[in-house]
Amino acid sequence: MALNSEQVDRLLTMIGQTQEVELTCPECLDELDKYTQSILDGMPLDEVLERVREHLEACPCCTGQFKLVLETLKAIEK
Ligand SMILES: [Zn+2]
Repeated sequence: MALNSEQVDRLLTMIGQTQEVELTCPECLDELDKYTQSILDGMPLDEVLERVREHLEACPCCTGQFKLVLETLKAIEK
C-alpha cells in the first residue's frame, strides 16, 4: 500500500499538530502552582493540568521544580 503525496502531507500535518499539543517547560512551570494545588486538594485534573502531568513524567527538570513547589505548599498549609 503506497501513500500518495497528498496523504503523506496530511499525515505529516497530523503529526505536527500532535507535537504542538505538548507543553513546553515555561508553559509547564506557568501551570505548576495550580497543578500542585490540585494534587494537594485531591482535585480532578483538567485538560491543561493533565498535560502538565504528562510533561512532568517526561521532564526531570520540571519534576524537580514540582517537588520544590509541593514542599513549599505543604509547609505553608501546615
Ligand atoms: Zn519541562
